Amino acid sequence: MHVRMADESVCIGPPAGTESYLSIPAIIAACEITGAQAIHPGYGFLSENANFVQIVEDHDLIFIGPTAEHIRVMGDKITAKETMIKLGVPVVPGSDGGVATLEDAQRIGEEIGYPVIIKATAGGGGKGMKVAQTAADMPSAFQTARAEGKSNFGNDEVYIEKYLTTPRHIEIQVFGDGKGRAVHLGERDCSLQRRHQKVFEEAPGPSISPEERAKIGKVCADAMADINYIGAGTIEFLYENGEFYFIEMNTRLQVEHPVTEAIFGVDLVREQIRVAEGQPMSFTQEDLKINGHAIEVRINAEKLPNFTPCPGKITQFHAPGGLGVRMDSALYDGYSIPPYYDSLIGKLIVHGRDRPEALARLNRALGELIVDGVDTTVPLFHALLQEEDILSGGYNIHWLEHWLETNLSEA
Ligand code: ADP
Repeated sequence: MHVRMADESVCIGPPAGTESYLSIPAIIAACEITGAQAIHPGYGFLSENANFVQIVEDHDLIFIGPTAEHIRVMGDKITAKETMIKLGVPVVPGSDGGVATLEDAQRIGEEIGYPVIIKATAGGGGKGMKVAQTAADMPSAFQTARAEGKSNFGNDEVYIEKYLTTPRHIEIQVFGDGKGRAVHLGERDCSLQRRHQKVFEEAPGPSISPEERAKIGKVCADAMADINYIGAGTIEFLYENGEFYFIEMNTRLQVEHPVTEAIFGVDLVREQIRVAEGQPMSFTQEDLKINGHAIEVRINAEKLPNFTPCPGKITQFHAPGGLGVRMDSALYDGYSIPPYYDSLIGKLIVHGRDRPEALARLNRALGELIVDGVDTTVPLFHALLQEEDILSGGYNIHWLEHWLETNLSEA
């Protein structure tokens, strides 16, 4: 769809990501061929690659995003955490930096108290994290986290955190102009996750009060102003018993950014392009007022109950519409979903005057959506909308895994 819609397009290589979307020479060459002045990296592939940003700048092109230095600091979870501590952002209790040996890991496990989570400093997308419920789990959890870090990210350094048992995932959207001004655009609650991957996101968070939002939002905006952050970013927290604990920062636009756009009425991508051009931000903190409630569901080409990727040809596609409904998707009748990439095929975003209205719109829009030819995760959302905990907003990061075990395993 993007190729069909584009004014101009350049083939950057064969389907395998390593030979195209991840090939820095291919992308720089595409800029040279077209005379493009700037690159918007989206949210996959090279969007958080500091080396890429450096090369883009060395070619006198503009990277629409933060500096290579900001990406480098936040891309390593240990340095990110150290930086946040310095900036006054609250973090999850844990090891002081990297943990090199099993003996150290065992000692730290005893000090913090089990359960703990062992995380690869280079990890992402839910990979390179292992939970040790008790001391007996430590040897295998420690080795596995290191091995996953090594094989997926080429770095086996790990650190340890207290494993929080009933937190919510709350993330703060930040935006900076690179000249010492930064704002926050409230939070998103992304607690509904499967294998540490988000499936349903909403804003504002059902459990966050205006006072809490203002307080944590200011901490984040001040931290970004301090480091002259430029563009969009997300500071992720776990939230438990009224406390926020930093886990990581994403130095890019996120998949779930539309819920924030909906409630604040701002176009974050337009804003990213503006500041990359050297223009000032088009809003101040005082301008940013929340209007209503928004929910996004991620529609994946996957077969339930095991979420097996399901690439194939779309025989019929119909997107829902109407007031407060946004469907971001590249699907069309006859499109073949390739097997090479992530299975996300669409994002359905609804906006209402309040949470019940957003939920009602979601129900109606899901009913209108037609995706024939492949299996999708749409039935999951129909089922979730029958659940009292979803309707009341009373869920945490473990809720969905438990629900899937009891409701979908033998389906
Ligand atoms: P990734 O970079 O792979 O996305 P994150 O650090 O953002 O990893 O963590 C992803 C998810 O893993 C969180 O949203 C949460 O569900 C879970 N998680 C991470 N750290 C902890 C922790 N200390 N305690 C409990 N759950 C955690």
